[in-house]
Amino acid sequence: MSFESLGLAPALLAAVAEAGFTEPTPVQQRAIPQALAGHDLMVSSQTGSGKTAAFMLPALNRQLGASPLRTPGVRVLVLTPTRELAQQVTDATRVFGKALNWLRTATVVGGMPYGAQLKALSRRVDVLVATPGRLLDHVQSGKVNLSEVEVLVLDEADRMLDMGFIEDIEAIVARTPASRQTLLFSATLDGSVARLAAGMMRDPQRIEI
Ligand code: AMP
Repeated sequence: MSFESLGLAPALLAAVAEAGFTEPTPVQQRAIPQALAGHDLMVSSQTGSGKTAAFMLPALNRQLGASPLRTPGVRVLVLTPTRELAQQVTDATRVFGKALNWLRTATVVGGMPYGAQLKALSRRVDVLVATPGRLLDHVQSGKVNLSEVEVLVLDEADRMLDMGFIEDIEAIVARTPASRQTLLFSATLDGSVARLAAGMMRDPQRIEI
């Protein structure tokens, strides 16, 4: 199967080719068309499976025709358990987002100084990659507007729950529009992950790799 057959716009296919990807991984083959169709997804996937592109390519595809005159606000919000994963997702966003030269990406994570994060958040942010605790701090102090979120990604949801982020996640999700698309990636999809998903997803398609 080729990337061309997944339904992505040519600008994103060019970025994928530039990244040196020739064939989509299994998780990309199954998740990208479903995400482009607008479904909520629960995807079982491991680190190294290519899951970052599986959520970021369709999320960016949705932003391609955006007007610069629209209301400012985060459109794509990615929650990750750790600073390191947040940085990897941010790096991937910059690679795949090359064609969207207006796109602004910011990262807010715990254990790092507030200054640079506050500076980044004082400007327009289209894609925000964050760990839950620090993001909630910024949300509660009025520094982040989540009312325009179109795509919410929960990356490594089981690890976020293991780290005790459940209440922070729920408080963050409550600030996003009910009309958003929610894409959940996790090593396991049952137990506490299933309960989390039940409260926040609409008719999710399950993809088990
Ligand atoms: P991830 O699971 O998203 O952390 O991706 C793991 C690694 O695989 C990263 O270094 C990606 O750049 C790489 N990768 C993801 N998708 C592909 C692909 N379709 N072809 C080649 N490498 C890929």
